[in-house]
Amino acid sequence: MSDQPAIARVIVEVARNREFDYRIPERLLGALTVGAQVIVPFGHSEARGYVVGFKDSSTFARLKEIREMVGRQALVGENVLKLARWIADYYLAPVETAVRAVLPGAVRNKGAGYQERLQVVPAALSHDEAAMQQLRKRAPKQAAALDLLLSGGPAFLSHLAHAAHTSPAAVRGLEQKGFVQISRQTAERDPLAQQVFLRTEPLTLMPQQTAALAQVKQSMDTLQPSVILLYGVTGSGKTEVYLQAIQHGLARGRGAIVLVPEIALTPQTIERFRGRFGDTVAVLHSRLSTGERHDEWHRIQDGRARIVIGPRSAVFAPVRDLGLIVVDEEHEPSYKQEEAPRYNARDVAVVRGRLDRCAVVLGSATPALESFYNVRRGKYALAAMPARVDHRQMPVIRVVDMRIEAEREGQAHVFSRELIEAIKTRIERAEQTMLFLNRRGYASALICPKCGYVAECTQCSVALTYHKATDELLCHICGAHRRVPARCPAPGCGDPAFRFAGVGTERVEIILHKLFPFARVQRMDSDSTTQKGSHRRILGDFRTGQIDVLVGTQMIAKGLHFPNVTLVGVVFADLSLHRPDFRAAERTFQLLTQVAGRAGRGEIKGEVIVQTYTPHHPAIQAARRLDYQGFMDQELEARRELGYPPFTHLVGLTLKGPSEQKITFAGDLFVKQLQPLLDPQVQMAGPLPAPLARAKGDFRYQILLRAPQTKQMTGPLRQTLAAFKWPPDVACAVDVDALSLT
Ligand code: ADP
Ligand code: ZN
Repeated sequence: MSDQPAIARVIVEVARNREFDYRIPERLLGALTVGAQVIVPFGHSEARGYVVGFKDSSTFARLKEIREMVGRQALVGENVLKLARWIADYYLAPVETAVRAVLPGAVRNKGAGYQERLQVVPAALSHDEAAMQQLRKRAPKQAAALDLLLSGGPAFLSHLAHAAHTSPAAVRGLEQKGFVQISRQTAERDPLAQQVFLRTEPLTLMPQQTAALAQVKQSMDTLQPSVILLYGVTGSGKTEVYLQAIQHGLARGRGAIVLVPEIALTPQTIERFRGRFGDTVAVLHSRLSTGERHDEWHRIQDGRARIVIGPRSAVFAPVRDLGLIVVDEEHEPSYKQEEAPRYNARDVAVVRGRLDRCAVVLGSATPALESFYNVRRGKYALAAMPARVDHRQMPVIRVVDMRIEAEREGQAHVFSRELIEAIKTRIERAEQTMLFLNRRGYASALICPKCGYVAECTQCSVALTYHKATDELLCHICGAHRRVPARCPAPGCGDPAFRFAGVGTERVEIILHKLFPFARVQRMDSDSTTQKGSHRRILGDFRTGQIDVLVGTQMIAKGLHFPNVTLVGVVFADLSLHRPDFRAAERTFQLLTQVAGRAGRGEIKGEVIVQTYTPHHPAIQAARRLDYQGFMDQELEARRELGYPPFTHLVGLTLKGPSEQKITFAGDLFVKQLQPLLDPQVQMAGPLPAPLARAKGDFRYQILLRAPQTKQMTGPLRQTLAAFKWPPDVACAVDVDALSLT
């Protein structure tokens, strides 16, 4: 007998935001655990669900019974399940979407049954000619499979059956007759199988690293403090600190999760972890096939992999006895998921740290204002590494005022004289240059100089970008493309002379070819890396010195380490500054600092040239002085005055739909119902048109709420949302702690 209660609470995957009670059948009593995947009757059919708890009785009289349990063990650990619940609660997301987020589809869909593959090898009888003859006569299909096996060598059961055009049962028949042996083999599809990693040994740490590591170790051993912000300039050796902290945990039987932004999850990064720890490192990223993801996940769950490295969703990896979670580049907006549940993996990491009682390290050269503020008010501890490894010097940053440049030249150019000179010198000295511009394509707009017409997307409220390679206009929001019109289509104009305004990476590349016909120039952006492996190839070529100048979008801004790069140019720094977002200054500062960090990582001191039309902007000036502290202090004051995060939390509701009128009508009504429930501390604005007022044919409106505590907003919002009926063609998305307000 088991003393397990007879009723299970189950989150059903297809159901909206509810938990259901089911009776546990006799045969499963005692076997079910929290986190087990089950099949339950639901409506007129059945559905997949997860056990989230137990109870002795239910208010429902006629409970249905759980049909079956999938696999033998819980798929979701208890803490990860708690984490899913926390996410559903905090981010106002349906609980089943949160459960889906914590479990990769590849794992959910195959169930908990560990995907053992059966390996087939020839047995003694297969060498008996007489027996083989007989088999060929009586069971030609089996014989064909056996022949294949004998010629091709050991194979997996499913592969062999498939290749021989027969069924797995037929192959099993061969086993019964004694022709083959079938054994359980767990064959992982190791995504890194073809690569060889050189083993690396722990480096002798610099004093600042030793001090930081001591803090982290103390945190791992005592949870005092439990969260550390590791503020270390680019090249200060943060990764080595992570590696040695992980080692400290491993020696005590504890695993680790390392989160890195997807974009920084390069072979180079993976190499550093695999080089130190070998096979015990599992890598999760979006380029894995379903099978690979499944295998990696199970390798983690059953403890064969103890270290996980991956993008935001890796925060849910089923690592047991977790000792440390590292969030590298913690300020990165890509840690925020843009669909429900809209969680921020950095903040989820902190919560998981609390649940799993492990240390959390947030690392960055430019910590988010929120994290900086959390240090200020004593929530996080600070470990600082202000110098570069080996006392390499920080680069010199020069700001070029493009207004003066334009005056001198009589017209605006893409490159200032200074930048051209600097690139030229680098090419002569066989040093490398990186040029950064956060906009792809050739020109950001097609403008009629006569009437001022701008080619816009018909579905989105943005100008179309001209792409020269394909000779077409492209919408960067919805992907629509159009031919370039021969004449201005504005009524009554029809002028044939169009002008391209604004620069993109494609144009920068073309100009470079003209300026330096003998230089090897390569562009890296999402247009030039559509082919699988091209990303890696370009970086490989750059590393081996086959490229002189690399032009790119933010793809080249992060985490890369190329010792021979002595010059970094920011073609147009104002691009990120003039965005309709209160974080624009912070983002610009971070971006410039990150980009600058790419320069001079070798023996030679680096130089950074920042071209801008607003040279005196505080973000640009602070970046020039490498003055993180000063910028953050100033920015904090501004945010405090305006009542923006981190002094408040922000919840954004985006309303979308084809009818503007319906959106505003429903939005007004919603606000009217919500308002009376709100604490006076909560400020609400809207519905107002979003900065991106139209996208993909839909109108977009926003309702913004701000308050010192998230709960002050999410409580009333939950209540109002539960009762409110949006018209069928108005969609409402709630974003708690929204990072992007476009
Ligand atoms: P960060 O992550 O802070 O930008 P990295 O960890 O990438 O810095 O370190 C920059 C470079 O310095 C790397 O090539 C790394 O191998 C090297 N490095 C780090 N720590 C040491 C050390 N203690 N001694 C020698 N080299 C080091
Ligand atoms: Zn569009």
